[in-house]
Parts: sequence; structure tokens; C-alpha cells
Amino acid sequence: MPEFPVLFVDPARVFLPSMEEILTRERRYRILAPASIPAALKELETVAPRAAILAMSGGAEALDAATRIRTFRPGLPIILLLPKNVAKSFSDVLRVRADEMFVEPVNPGDVLAALNRHSVVGTTSPIHVRVRELETLVQLAKNINSQLDLDQALASIVDAAVRLTGAEEGSLMLVDPVTGELYMRASKNFDEEFVRTFRMKVEDSLAGEVISRGEPILLDDESPRKIKTSFLVHSLIFVPLLRKEKAIGLLGVDNRAARRPLHESDLSLMQALAEHAVIALENARLHEATQTHMRQLETVIEQVEDGVIITDPEGRILIANRTVRGLFRLGEAPLEARLLKEVFPNLELHYLFARRQSELASQRRTEITLADDRIWSAHLTPIEGVGFAIVLNDITQLKELDRLKSEFVSTVSHDLRSPLTTILGYVDLIERAGPVTDQQKTFIRRIQNSVGSITTLISDLLDLGKIESGIDSQKEPVQLNALARNALEGMRGRAEAKQLRLDVSLDDSIPALNGNPVRLRQMIVNLLDNAVKYTPEGGTIGFSTRLEADQAFLWVSDSGIGIPPQELPYVFNKFYRATNVQNTAGTGLGLSIVKSIAEIHGGRVWVDSESGKETKFTVVLPVPKE
Ligand code: ADP
Repeated sequence: MPEFPVLFVDPARVFLPSMEEILTRERRYRILAPASIPAALKELETVAPRAAILAMSGGAEALDAATRIRTFRPGLPIILLLPKNVAKSFSDVLRVRADEMFVEPVNPGDVLAALNRHSVVGTTSPIHVRVRELETLVQLAKNINSQLDLDQALASIVDAAVRLTGAEEGSLMLVDPVTGELYMRASKNFDEEFVRTFRMKVEDSLAGEVISRGEPILLDDESPRKIKTSFLVHSLIFVPLLRKEKAIGLLGVDNRAARRPLHESDLSLMQALAEHAVIALENARLHEATQTHMRQLETVIEQVEDGVIITDPEGRILIANRTVRGLFRLGEAPLEARLLKEVFPNLELHYLFARRQSELASQRRTEITLADDRIWSAHLTPIEGVGFAIVLNDITQLKELDRLKSEFVSTVSHDLRSPLTTILGYVDLIERAGPVTDQQKTFIRRIQNSVGSITTLISDLLDLGKIESGIDSQKEPVQLNALARNALEGMRGRAEAKQLRLDVSLDDSIPALNGNPVRLRQMIVNLLDNAVKYTPEGGTIGFSTRLEADQAFLWVSDSGIGIPPQELPYVFNKFYRATNVQNTAGTGLGLSIVKSIAEIHGGRVWVDSESGKETKFTVVLPVPKE
């Protein structure tokens, strides 16, 4: 039994007699030869021919039929057989866009070959069809990856489903996560109004069955079923859209009017298309989620009170928020992609960015004083894969508090110093005034020690006050090594008493620095004092200087008790004493003085330490340019 129907429309029987024989001999073609064009169109409603052969002897009517067949079954191969006098209506013929054309006299063998070529049963035809399907799928995949417009992506998927299966209509329905109902997200050949208002309960519908079971359904001509929406179909395919094994909707095609079957091969094709649809939906969902996050982040960055500048690795601005624009009076000028150093007229900010590669957190922080005298702390953080973020906080108030505190401390210290000197003077006089017992002597020593500690504390406080307020800021050329030798000499006695080994290495190529000799010596003495104080007997103290990259480096190291790692950030704070030095006397001000002295000289100091093992302080001071 020949399985493949071929529609042969030749009511005038011009070509049919000669062709019928050869086609029948081929055995696999079943010729359907309707007696009229309306009959041919009717035939198409119930049969799915693999090709149509149209004899154009019927003039305009035949042409019209061809156009209608084209519209009705876009994928159906059409072979035109034309009479000799075709020339006058040639342009009309072209409009039909036939797959093949033959002009009288027609060689039946040629028509058969064409039929084999174009119908799906010929030796090459199934491959042609597959190729066409694959091409469509590849094209869809490309679209899905490139276009984020979900509507368009889904519409092209439904369109492809209808086109490739030859069905009448198609739809892509999704489950509304809120109501649990199905709605139509994309459709082909459905009434627009119907699509817009379509809502269907998932339960007890055929679609619901597909959704809940997660399996496709193919209904054929033999078993038409009433679908919940009350339309009767002759054939239908519903395939679920599965995301993580859960159906989120379905892709469907059906034939309502035409009694045309759908096949297993259509079903596999629909499944491939459904996968594309899921990818498109997933892409869109992820894109939407990313966009939402982006918008939230952008709003946060834009609205925070802190100033935020984000740049790429080269310093081109990606984001500069409202606060930053206000601070630098940048108005609404577009800043994106412009260089930081061109946009912000602030040297401190430029220097900070120039130090962006520094490993030291202290190097990636700075203070910026703006035209209105407000002070902002700027902190630069490298951000992997983006570039750098600079965050600015207003610290004017903190600075002011700090200044008031220092002023208060200076005043109080000053006022305390005179009565203390008096106390010490009178205590010294007690022994001279007459004999004292041994116990009284012990008491006197204790008073002298305590008053001595308070005096040291007060001197330190006054020093700090002076340094911070810039009172003794006059500078002169200073030989760092000469100061160092002098300070080392001063502590030699105490070091020997504790049997500490001194390891000194001075680089005499360091040129004279521009500084305050008294303060720089004080800085070195404080560091050496600590090294002696916090290193047990028999340990080693290292002292070295070196000229490196136009800066003078100074290191003071020791093999002492070290600083607990969690306390390292605080040792330069005023009055801070680490938890492991409770048994050693001290004021907690020595390192604050060191830091202030380094800073007023345009330098920096930092510490590295391993608790219980060693401590190393590094001071860097700028060398004046010749
Ligand atoms: P202090 O008068 O307590 O020595 P400093 O300001 O000089 O005050 O130092 C602050 C704290 O830093 C010290 O109390 C100590 O905990 C720690 N520190 C300073 N230098 C050293 C060092 N060389 N070894 C270990 N700890 C040190």
C-alpha cells in the first residue's frame, strides 16, 4: 500500500494521464486527484500530502489555489506544471514561489525526480527535511543566546513549532506561579483577544495532565478529545517545559479544522523546541534577576552618604556617586570612562591612586582636606575583576574632637607639671632636712618613682601636643645616621646591662633630610627604648638605615616578646599598651609620638611582628630632591 499522498491538482486533466502511470509505478506515492480546486482545498483539511503538483492550465483560479495552498501549508513542496503560453502570466506564476516548475511538453521522469527531491520520501528528501529542521533549531539557539527579548524568542519558537510540524496553530503556555493557572505567553494563529484573556485551571485539563506528569502527549486523528477550553482538536501535541524536572509550562501545536495527523517525529522536534524555550525563559529570568540586583546596588551606591568612586584598573571612572559629585562640585557632567586624575582636582586623591598597588593597607588610606575645610578620609580597595573602589568618609567632626582632646590634654598637662615639680623638690628636701628611718626612705623612693612616671607621662603628652599642633615645625638639614649613632650611644649602657647584642648597619649614602633634629632623634630613641624594654636578656637588637628609591628607610628590630597579631593595628594609638606588656612600665604614648614625628616629616611608620619571637618597626622618610 503506497503510504505517501501526493496532491495532483489538474482538473482539466492536461498532465495527469501521462503522469499518473509513472507515479503509480513508483509504488510509494498515492495520487489524490481532486476533480476541482475547491475539492483540493477541502482535501487538504483531512490529509497531509507530502507534496502538491499543480497544473496551471486553469488560469487565475489555479493561481489563486496555489497561493492559498502556500498560505495554508507553508512548508508543503509545490511543483508547478505550466502550459506553453505561460509567458503572459509569468509574474503571477513567480509569486507562487514554487519549489520546481516545468513547462509543456513535460517529461514525466523529470517531474518524478523533482517529487523525489522535494517530498520527504525520496532518497534525499528526508535529509532535506532534517536539515531544514536542524537549521531552524540552530537559528533559534542563536537567537536565544543573542536576543534577550523574551517575547521575540518565544514567538519564534512557537512559529517554528507550527512551521516544522505543519500544524494549524501553536501556543506556549506558562503556569502562573501565583494563581497556579495556565496563561498563553506566545502563540501562532490564535485570536489575539483569546490569547490575552486565556486563563485555564491546571487541574483536570489535558494541559494539566502534561504539567503534572511532566510528560508529552500526542493525540492523533482517531481519538479527538474535548479540551477544557471547549475547542475540539483533531490532532495535538503538548510537550512540557521542564526546569529542574518540574514543568513550568508547555509548548503545544494542534489541528482544529484539518484532519491532519501529527507524528512521533513531530513530537521529538517539539521536545527540542521546548528545551529551547526553557533556555530562553531561564536566560530571561537570570537576566532579569541580575538587572534587579544591579539596579538595587546602583541605588545603594548612589544614595549612601559616603563618597564612592569605582574605577577600572587603569583609573577610568565606572561610577562616581552623588556625594562625590557634590564634594568636588562636578554637577551632572558625564564622568563615565574619564580618567580619575583628569576629573578630580585633588592631589591627595591622585597620590592615593598612584599607591594603588601597595600591599600595605596604611598606604591605601589618606586624608583629603577640601576647599570648605572639611576633612575626608579616603580609602582605596582593589576589587578583583573590576578595578578599584575609593570610599570617602567625612571625618571633620572626629578631627575636631581629636584636636579639642589634644588641646585639653596639653593644658591639663601643663598645669600639672608645676605642682609635680614642687612635690618632687620637697620630697628631695625631706632627707636633707633631718634623719629618716629606712622605712621612710623606702616611702620616699616610691614617691619619687611615681612622680617620675607621672612627669614622663606629662612630658610625653606635652611633646605630642606640640608635634601635632606643629609648634616646633621648623626644619633644617639633618643627617639621619648622625642622629642614629647618637641615640644608639645613649642606649648602649642599658643594652649591655641586659646583655643584648646590637646589630647595626648604616647606609652613609643617605643624603641630609629636611627635618627637626630633636624630634627625629626622639623618634629613634623611642623605638630603641621599646626594643630594649621588650626584649628579654641575651636577645638581639637590629638597627639599620638604607637609601631606597629616593626614600630613607630606617629599621629597628628585636628578638623580643612581639605583639599579638590582633593588637598590631592599635599600637600606634595613644595610651594603647598590648596585653602582653602588663608587667613592664610605660605610658602607651611612645609610638604615638613616633607616628606623629614620622608624619610631620612626610613619612610613615609601620610594624611587623611575630608574637613571642620578634618585632620590626620600619620608618620611611622622604629625601629632598636636589
Ligand atoms: P609603651 O610606653 O607602653 O612602651 P609605646 O607607645 O611605646 O608605649 O608602645 C605601645 C605598645 O606597643 C607597647 O605597650 C607594647 O605593647 C607595644 N610595643 C612597642 N614596641 C614594642 C616592641 N619592640 N616589642 C614588643 N611590643 C612593643
